[in-house]
Amino acid sequence: MSNSPHIIIIGAGASGIIAACNLISKGFTNVTILEAEDRIGGRIDSRRFNDGFIDFGAQWCSGQEGNSVYELCHNDFEFGCTGFYDTNGFVGLISNGSRVDKQIFGKLSAVRSKIEDMIDEMREFKGSIGEFFDQKYNQELESSEYDDADEEMREMVRKLWETEVNANYASTSWYKISANRYSQVVVCEGSQDQTWRTSGYKTLFDIIQKKFKVEEVLKDKIQLNKKVDHINWDTDKIVIRTLDRHVYQADHLIVTIPLGALQAHHKLLFTPMLPEKKIKAIENIQFGTLGKVFLEFEEPFWKKLNNNFKVCAFLWTPEDLDDIRGTDKEWLTNMYGFLHLDGFPYVLETLLGGNKMKEFETYSDEKIENDCIWLLEKFMKVKISRPIAMRRTRWLTRENFLGSYSYCSMNTAEKDVYPEDLKETVFNDNGKPMLLFAGEATSSKFQGYVHGAIDTGREAAEKLIAYFEGLKEQ
Ligand SMILES: Cc1cc2nc3c(=O)[nH]c(=O)nc-3n(C[C@H](O)[C@H](O)[C@H](O)COP(=O)(O)OP(=O)(O)OC[C@H]3O[C@@H](n4cnc5c(N)ncnc54)[C@H](O)[C@@H]3O)c2cc1C
Repeated sequence: MSNSPHIIIIGAGASGIIAACNLISKGFTNVTILEAEDRIGGRIDSRRFNDGFIDFGAQWCSGQEGNSVYELCHNDFEFGCTGFYDTNGFVGLISNGSRVDKQIFGKLSAVRSKIEDMIDEMREFKGSIGEFFDQKYNQELESSEYDDADEEMREMVRKLWETEVNANYASTSWYKISANRYSQVVVCEGSQDQTWRTSGYKTLFDIIQKKFKVEEVLKDKIQLNKKVDHINWDTDKIVIRTLDRHVYQADHLIVTIPLGALQAHHKLLFTPMLPEKKIKAIENIQFGTLGKVFLEFEEPFWKKLNNNFKVCAFLWTPEDLDDIRGTDKEWLTNMYGFLHLDGFPYVLETLLGGNKMKEFETYSDEKIENDCIWLLEKFMKVKISRPIAMRRTRWLTRENFLGSYSYCSMNTAEKDVYPEDLKETVFNDNGKPMLLFAGEATSSKFQGYVHGAIDTGREAAEKLIAYFEGLKEQ
C-alpha cells in the first residue's frame, strides 16, 4: 500500500500481535508496535523450566467451537489435557487428614453442574454469583437424596467451589461477581482444559506468524522496552511519547494496555482526556489477580495417593478454617488444590484467587515454599522432602499489568458499564478513527481469555481496514 498510514499499536500481547498481523497481511506496511516489556507476549508469559516451558500467565485453551485460539492452532499443534474433569484422577483431601467420600462428592458436584447450567435464571438474578450459588445449592439440598451429605460436608464443598470460582475469575470474593454478567461470558463447546504440553502458550505466536506469513516482517515492527507515557490526540496526528523520551506520530492508534495499568494511568496518559463513557468503563470494570505456584520435586510422591493423579482438592473443616484465619498462612485457604502439570512428571501447580493476593505477592519465596509444604503434609498426611525448584507469580505488582485479567463485578453491573464501552472507537470531528481499543477486557463474550484478546485485536484491525476501503470508494 503506497503512502501507508502510520498505525501504532500499544502492547505486544495477543491482541496487539494479531492486530498487527491482520494489518500487515492486508498491505499496511507502516505499522509499529510499542511494548513496555523486554519481550512480546504480555500476559502470555511462558518461562523456560527444565527442558520445556511453564506458563506464568495464560495456560489453557478453553473450548474449541468458536474459540479463535483453537481455530488458529489445532491443525498445527496437538493439544494436551490437564484432566480437570477426569474423576479417576481426582482426589479430595480434608484438612483433618481424611479423604472425601467420592460418591457423596460426586453427587454434590452434579448439583454444582446443574446450577452452572441455570443460565437463564442467572441472567435474571440481581445479586452476585456467590448469592446465586448459595440460594440454589440450599434449595437443591433440601431433597432427601442428599441426606448422606452432612452439614459439614455441604459447607466444605460449597467453600471449595467458592475458592475455584475466585481463582477462575481472579476475584477477591464470589459475592462481588455479578451473576448476570457471569452468565454472559460464553463457554466455547469442547474440552476446557487443553494444554500446550511443555511448549508453553507462547507457541500461539509462532503459529500466528506462520499463518499470516509475517515472520520476517513482524519482528522489525516491534519495539521493545518502549513504555508509552503520554498520548496527545488533540490534532489530526496522534503524538505518542515513551518513557525514554522518544516521540512518534501516528494516524491511528490501537491501545491494548491491560485494564489494570489503564486504570492507574489513563488520566495522565491521554490529552485530551478520554470520553466520559470510556473513563466510566475503565474505572468500573474489575481487574482481578490470579496467582500461581509451581513446585518441582525429586519424585512424584502424590502418586501414592492415586496412580492416575491429575488434581487434588483441599477441603477445610470449619475448625481448621477458624484456626488458620487471621494468621499469615490464611492465603493457603485461597487454593483450590494442586494439579499435575501436563508434561512435567515431577511438578505440581496451584492456582490462587481470593482476598489474600496482596499478601501473597509480598511473601518471600522461602515462605511460599514452606507454607506449601506445610499444607501438603497436613492434607496428604505424608512427610515431604523439600522441592528442588519453586516458581511463583506476582501479577498484581508487575507495573505493566497490575493484575491478571478482568471480570464484571456487582459494581460494574450497578454502573451499567460493559466491555463494549471500553472497546468503543474514539473518532475525531472528521469521523476519523483515532483511538481504537482492544484486549481481553474489551470482549463481552470472552472477557478474561486469550481468545477474547485475539478476537478484539482482529476486530480493531478490521475496523481500520474497512475505514480505508471506505475512503478508497469515495
Ligand atoms: C495468571 C494468568 C492466567 C491466565 N490464564 C488464562 C488461561 O488459562 N486461558 C486464557 O485464555 N487466558 C488466560 N489468562 C488471560 C490471558 O492471558 C489474557 O486474556 C490475554 O493474554 C490478554 O491479552 P491482551 O493482548 O489483552 O493483553 P496483554 O497480553 O497484557 O498485552 C498488553 C501489553 O501491553 C503492554 N503495555 C502495558 N502498558 C504499556 C505502555 N504504557 N506502553 C507500552 N506497552 C504497554 C504490556 O506489557 C503487555 O505486553 C490468564 C492471565 C493471567 C495473568
